[in-house]
Amino acid sequence: MEKDIIPCGEPLFVSLVMPPAAFNEMGYKVVDGMADYFSSIRERRIISESSSLGIQEVFNEDLPIRGQEPSAIFDQWNQQVIPHAAHLGSPRYFGFVNGSGNMISVFASALATSVNMNSGGWKAGPAATEIERRSIAWIAELIGFPVNCGGLFLGGGTIANFSALLVALKNHNNYNATGDGLQTGSNVKFLVYMSDHEGHISIEKAAEMANLGSNSVRRVASNEDLTMNVQVLEEMILADKEAGHIPYCVVAQVGSINVGVVDPLEEIARICQAHQLWFHADGACGAFGAMLPEKKHLFRGLEKADSVTLDPHKWLYIPYECGCLLVKHPEKLRHTFSIAAPYLKGTLPTDYAGQDYFEYGPQMSRGFNALKVWMSIKYHGKEGYQKLLRQNIQCAVHLDGLVRSSADFVPMHQPELFIYSFRFVPASLQNQDAELINHDLDQLNQKITDEIMASGFAFIMTSKVKGRVVIRLSICSHRTTLQDIEQVFSRLASIGNRLFAAH
Ligand SMILES: *Cc1c(COP(=O)(O)O)cnc(C)c1O
Repeated sequence: MEKDIIPCGEPLFVSLVMPPAAFNEMGYKVVDGMADYFSSIRERRIISESSSLGIQEVFNEDLPIRGQEPSAIFDQWNQQVIPHAAHLGSPRYFGFVNGSGNMISVFASALATSVNMNSGGWKAGPAATEIERRSIAWIAELIGFPVNCGGLFLGGGTIANFSALLVALKNHNNYNATGDGLQTGSNVKFLVYMSDHEGHISIEKAAEMANLGSNSVRRVASNEDLTMNVQVLEEMILADKEAGHIPYCVVAQVGSINVGVVDPLEEIARICQAHQLWFHADGACGAFGAMLPEKKHLFRGLEKADSVTLDPHKWLYIPYECGCLLVKHPEKLRHTFSIAAPYLKGTLPTDYAGQDYFEYGPQMSRGFNALKVWMSIKYHGKEGYQKLLRQNIQCAVHLDGLVRSSADFVPMHQPELFIYSFRFVPASLQNQDAELINHDLDQLNQKITDEIMASGFAFIMTSKVKGRVVIRLSICSHRTTLQDIEQVFSRLASIGNRLFAAH
C-alpha cells in the first residue's frame, strides 16, 4: 500500500483513514495475537533475559520518514515488544502492588479509543461523563462510602493522593485560597500526619509537589502491628498547634504497603473531627477489601473519611492506568480545581449543564478510563469481585501457613489482605539476634529474590519491615492459585537452603 505523502506546495488533502479491508485485517490479526498471548501467559518467563542495555538497543531505530505497513508494525510488536515486556498478568507476578489487568478492559480500551471522547468537558464527552459518574457511585457503594460523593478517575494513587492533599489544604479555613496561595510570608507550617512505618512515600511526593516540603509530613509512631498509634497522633497534633502550626490532614493507610494493615479508622475519624482536620484514607492497595463482609470490621470508619484514594489498576484488576479519588463533598473538589475561561464554556445545547470534570480535578483533557471500570464491574459483578478478592486473600493466608510450618522461614505479621512479608532464617540461626547475623540474613534474603527473579519463574521483590530485609509478595493477580503459591514457596526454600549451605 503506497501511503499518500503531501508533495510540497500541492493542495492535496490526506486523512488518517485506513482502508476498511486493511482495518479489518489488522483487527483480526491483533485479536488473534492477544488471544494467543493470554493463553500462553502462565508458561512465559516473566521478564526478559536481555540486559537493560540490550533492550535499549532493540529499540534504537531511526525516525521513520515514510509510513510503514500496519502488518510490519505488528510484527515488530511480536518480535520486539512481547519478548522484552514484563508480564504483570502472570500468576507468579508478585511485584510492587501491580495489578494483573483483566481481559474485558482490552475491549473497553479499544472501544473508548475508537470513539475518542474527551471526558474533561461534558460537551466533548456526555456519555463518558455519565459513565464516569455512575462508575464512581458504584465504587463508593462497593466500599460502603456515601454514594452521593464526588470523585473521578486519575492516573494512579499518587496523583489521587496529591489531589486529595490539595483539596484538604484549599478547603482549610486558614488557607489563603485567593491568588496568593501559600505565598503569604508567614512561618506557619501546614502539616499532614501519617504512620512512620507504613505511611506511603506518595504522600511525601504529594507534599513536595504541592511545594509544602517533605518536612510537612509528620511521621506518627506505630503500634506493634504497624498500625498508627492514635494516642501519639493526638499528642503530636496538640504540640504542633501549640507551636503555632496548622495541622490540616491525617492520612490513614487502608491496606499498607509492606504488611497490608488498616489503620484504626474510627479513632482517626474521631481525632480529625475533634481537631477539624481533613481525614484522607489512602486505600490505593487495600480499600476495595471493604466489599468483603468478613473484612468489614477492618474498614469500620472508612465512610467517615473526607476523601479516599483507590487504585482500580491494583485490586480491581483494571489494566493501567486507572487510579481513583473519592471526595465526600463534591463541591470541595470544585472549590479546589475550578477554572473559568471563555473558551471552556461557550453555549450549552441543552438545559442540563452537565458536569465538566476539568472543574473537579487536576487534568483538563482526559481519556475515557471509566469505560474499563464500567464494563468490568458489569462483566464480573460485585459477586465476581468478591470471589476474586477472597481468592487473593486465601493465597496470602496459605503462604503464611507454609511459612509458619517451615523450620527455615519466619513470619513478620498476620496477613489481613493480599500483601505478605516474611523472612528466610535457617533453623540453625533462629533465636540468635546478633547484628552481624541479621545483616548476613538481610543479604541472603535479597539474594534469594534476585535469583528467583533472574530465573524468570516468579517476580518477587524485597522490602524492609522493622529494619530487616523481607521477602514480600503482593498477591493481586486474578490468575494466582494455591498451587502457584506452593510452587513459588518451595523454590524460595530450595534457593535459600542452597545459598545458605554454600555460604
Ligand atoms: C500503589 C500505592 C500508591 C501509589 O499509587 P500509584 O497508582 O502507583 O501512583 C499510594 N499509596 C499506596 C498505599 C499504594 O499502595
